[in-house]
Amino acid sequence: MKMVVSLLLVLFLHHGVPISSFSLQMAPFEDFQLLAPDAKEDADRIIRSAMNTTIVYDRLAYMTDTIGPRFSGTPALEQAIDWIVARAQEDGIIVKTENVMVPRWVRGREFANLIAPRRKSLRMLGLGGSVGTGGTTLRAEAIVVSSFVELDRQKENIRGKIVVYNQEFVSYSETVVYRGYGASRAEAYGAVAALVRSITPFGIQTPHTGSMHSSNIPAASITIEDAMMFARMQARGQTLQIELYMEAHALLDAQSRNIILEIPGCTYSDEYVIVGGHTDSWDIADGAMDDGGGAFVSWEAVRLIHALGLRPLRTIRAVLWTNEENGARGAESYADNHASELIRHSIALESDVGTFSPNGISFAGSSDARRILELIGGSLLSEIGSGNVSGVSVGEDVSFLNANGVPSGSLNVEDVRCGSDDNNPCLPYSHAPYPAFDEDNFLKSGYFWYHHTAADTIDKLSSRQLQHCAATLGVWVYAIANLPFLLPR
Ligand SMILES: [Zn+2]
Repeated sequence: MKMVVSLLLVLFLHHGVPISSFSLQMAPFEDFQLLAPDAKEDADRIIRSAMNTTIVYDRLAYMTDTIGPRFSGTPALEQAIDWIVARAQEDGIIVKTENVMVPRWVRGREFANLIAPRRKSLRMLGLGGSVGTGGTTLRAEAIVVSSFVELDRQKENIRGKIVVYNQEFVSYSETVVYRGYGASRAEAYGAVAALVRSITPFGIQTPHTGSMHSSNIPAASITIEDAMMFARMQARGQTLQIELYMEAHALLDAQSRNIILEIPGCTYSDEYVIVGGHTDSWDIADGAMDDGGGAFVSWEAVRLIHALGLRPLRTIRAVLWTNEENGARGAESYADNHASELIRHSIALESDVGTFSPNGISFAGSSDARRILELIGGSLLSEIGSGNVSGVSVGEDVSFLNANGVPSGSLNVEDVRCGSDDNNPCLPYSHAPYPAFDEDNFLKSGYFWYHHTAADTIDKLSSRQLQHCAATLGVWVYAIANLPFLLPR
């Protein structure tokens, strides 16, 4: 068996063809060397050097403090990209940028007030992509619904009103549809505006922005507390009057860039292992968590491998995508520009759900590939607790590669600040308890407390956790780049 497998590998690799027909049932791993003889030693070196330097935290703190929000189409995002490029060049890494045209949306001045039954200035944030109120202050009666089912039931009572969505947070992926489609569905029944309870399990009067699907009526997020108060008022029979003013509008697309940080493969230089995060943030957020941390630990993973003088068999690329938040044009553009190479992308990993304590990766790909990843994680990362392969979810940016057949994954993290189910402050606002050890496990983190808010600042992250994430990604990508074959699809 060993001879047959080796021969097959040589034949397939010689022709640069992925081993898609390669059957792992026919070829137990024991029959050939999956990991290079010095794989463990190299992994330990990556981990040691990652845990030995605070450079990733220092850089992220500098960038988020000094440049601040990096919204698509703004000079600040391009300034941040220039700064990253300059630092990565100092690292001695090969740096490329690729131009991407990105949408340009401007928030402008905005406010919302409750007028009746009492006057209150509301903490709000217009949703990305929303239209404005046409230069006037829109004033209307509000109707509160807790779901789209209730909206449909109330369809005769919507015309001319502001619809307030007071939906319970279940999970980000389930609940975010209210931000995405709340306005267009309310518009269909004649609403004049939509206010959406922030998509978060926990709030301290913090509105969370985010993108929405196009609609001709303005839409904004409001806080959990205000949405719940409006629901209580309506239940008592009190009539709600709300006024809304938004200058939001779109401008022409602007030019931005993806950054590619590369270590060329010494044997299969035209085969790739990708790790990345996105450089852009919302206009109101420093974007330390979302996704400065993810972008910087991806960069750091590559920097560590380069600084140690390790030479991977395949090319390792950190891709720092632009415009994830309101268009994903960076991810789309990378997939287009590199379409002919995608068959030779072994894996694409992404970090975009926080850089807290990493526990492994989720993975969307074949069960054969998953088995290989489990072996890598178990062999090289179990000592630092980040070698698990669980779940199937992948983030927005790698989803464009996954849709083209590239095995893809996402860094999974946990956050001790959330504590156990017993003392989790998220729970009063959501359906308890969170399921343990499944792919939504990252929701047991503070990520969505701060996501798309002005509170997404560097103090929410720790240097130690960033180092741990960088070590984890460095070990994953280096080991995958050195496999005897591309990950089977
Ligand atoms: Zn993000």
